[in-house]
Amino acid sequence: MSSFQVKVVGDFCNIRCTYCRNRDFDQDTCVVMKVGTLEQVLDFLTSLPQKRIRTHWHGGEPLLAGKEFFDHIVRLQKAHPGISWANAVQTNAILIDDEWASFFRRHDFHVGVSVDGSKRTHNINRVNRAGSGTFSQVMDGVEVLRRNGVTLSVICTVTSKTAEYAEEMLCGLVDAGFKDIAFNVFYNTASRTGDDPHALTAAQWLSCLIELFESWLELNDAAVRVRELDGMLAWTRSKTANLCSYRGLCHQWFVVDYTGELYPCERFGRSMCFGRVDSLASFQELFASPPFLDWKTSISTLPRRCQSCGLQPLCHNGCVAHTASDSQGVPLYVYCESRIGFYRYVCSRLEGKERTDDATETGYVNPVAR
Ligand code: SF4
Ligand code: SF4
Repeated sequence: MSSFQVKVVGDFCNIRCTYCRNRDFDQDTCVVMKVGTLEQVLDFLTSLPQKRIRTHWHGGEPLLAGKEFFDHIVRLQKAHPGISWANAVQTNAILIDDEWASFFRRHDFHVGVSVDGSKRTHNINRVNRAGSGTFSQVMDGVEVLRRNGVTLSVICTVTSKTAEYAEEMLCGLVDAGFKDIAFNVFYNTASRTGDDPHALTAAQWLSCLIELFESWLELNDAAVRVRELDGMLAWTRSKTANLCSYRGLCHQWFVVDYTGELYPCERFGRSMCFGRVDSLASFQELFASPPFLDWKTSISTLPRRCQSCGLQPLCHNGCVAHTASDSQGVPLYVYCESRIGFYRYVCSRLEGKERTDDATETGYVNPVAR
């Protein structure tokens, strides 16, 4: 089933996280999607064969589009009675007030907030225009959402500056009342070089995952769900994790920019455009178009190391945006070794072996990949 991220304000944001890709774009003018474009987007989405359409309202900071814009979303969706809409919004929560919260509750929007762990780790990277940490403002917004009964999940971005505080990040989020937690590893998907000072190495990400796993075991609270751990625990039962970066289905993710242009998954930026929602007659036309078919073929061709890897059916060369080309130009998942190492680590712990603080003891280097 296809999923859509709609960038209602393009790349504009009200804060200035030090790792954010928006740093590279104009941050002086906030341009909001026109209502006419929104109408075209929703009409286009209804050309999909599916009757349930999942839409993630994104930015920059999507709430900068304003309450009236979100009223239009709901009003226009109701004009398509045969469709069941699943709406989600990812926000830094700073603009949240009772009116926003009650809107999300009333219209059953799933709200994801971006909080990078404890107050200390969050404030390392998530700062305002003046460079001050935003944790307190974010938690004020979270409190308003909770008071209004909104169901929340949280995304915590891990950078090279915070990776060593994995336990603090997880416990900080749990202490702040979050139960549905995801950790995003930071990799600069624009440069794809790993040179970004915030990017994690495979070894750093592996150590971070191990620390998260051990901290989660220590919490001993089944109500706390950590997406990355759930994914790996599914692997140990030979099940595919319910997460795009494990499923090899990137061609089902689309982003619609505030201009109405269609691109692959948001993580790619705008390196290729499939067309505009007002020039493509339907999704069927998009799915049959040469740019889309070329893209689909390019991402489904697995590198040689994956073809001979026992974990390939569960991994599919990871996140397509988190790749670096080898000397022959073949895109390789940069966190392959973290994945294999973590798999081995979790298996050994489930077999009752003691924890080890030395990640290399898991033999995290993929022998098949050499
Ligand atoms: S590019 Fe990465 S984030 Fe995007 S759909 Fe693929 S795996 Fe998921
Ligand atoms: S070689 Fe690495 S990236 Fe490829 S399938 Fe195996 S674990 Fe995944």
